[in-house]
Amino acid sequence: MLVSAKEMLDKAKAGHYAVGQFNINNLEWTKSILQTAQELSSPVILGVSEGAGKYMGGYKTIVGMVNGMLEELNITVPVALHLDHGGYDACYKCIEAGFSSIMFDGSHYPIEENVEKTKELVAAAHEKGLSIEAEVGSIGGEEDGVIGMGECADPKECKMVADLGVDFLAAGIGNIHGKYPANWQGLSFETLDAIQQLTGDLPLVLHGGTGIPADMIKKAISLGVSKINVNTECQLAFAAATREYIEAGKDQQGKGYDPRKLLAPGAQAIKDTVKEKMEMFGSIGKA
Ligand SMILES: [Zn+2]
Repeated sequence: MLVSAKEMLDKAKAGHYAVGQFNINNLEWTKSILQTAQELSSPVILGVSEGAGKYMGGYKTIVGMVNGMLEELNITVPVALHLDHGGYDACYKCIEAGFSSIMFDGSHYPIEENVEKTKELVAAAHEKGLSIEAEVGSIGGEEDGVIGMGECADPKECKMVADLGVDFLAAGIGNIHGKYPANWQGLSFETLDAIQQLTGDLPLVLHGGTGIPADMIKKAISLGVSKINVNTECQLAFAAATREYIEAGKDQQGKGYDPRKLLAPGAQAIKDTVKEKMEMFGSIGKA
């Protein structure tokens, strides 16, 4: 059964480790992540962006697939199904569809409107037992064709949004989505520390976990980061393994074209990536 992400993240914050949010794109992704979490006895959060939701045939389709796997694959570790960077309407759709956690990304609204909508969604999510994440400031990336260097959130604004009753909070500390540029300045631990001073026990979320060096990840965890989002890294690992299979001509040998064979190296690459991240985040054995 899916669970809210609140308890697993409160435990992570208290225990000084982080739980990975791994974004899913299809059945292979989902199965690889769930099986790895079970094998390593780690809690896990499956992230679904609005785009991935559409791609996979809608939120209800995803809820059906994930719930089916939890039962048929005997997954007993805590699993949360979380809407990633959801708009206002998508949040309600996911609450209805049976997700166990949502993120409301109101970062593009003026702060007053972001606050109003966040308050309303906190009440709606909590009424149905879901956890909710909010974002302060905006986390850059190359999505708009421009690579942002990563803004830093205002700690006072973080405290204000934290007080609205969200269960965990994403704040920009120089992190960005996608691959990091060569001249990236690194994470701002000063900002992170200032945010944690004001928000106390609230678990903090680090978006854009791909390519942040291990020592920075560990330091961020020591300063209150309890959830780390990983998306691009699994995509790169999947693509590289699939490329290798095709370039070796294996799809043309025997029944190598069978999708169960063709997609197997990519699925294994996702498992390896998830394992590596869980080791780095310290969540193994914490289920
Ligand atoms: Zn993000």
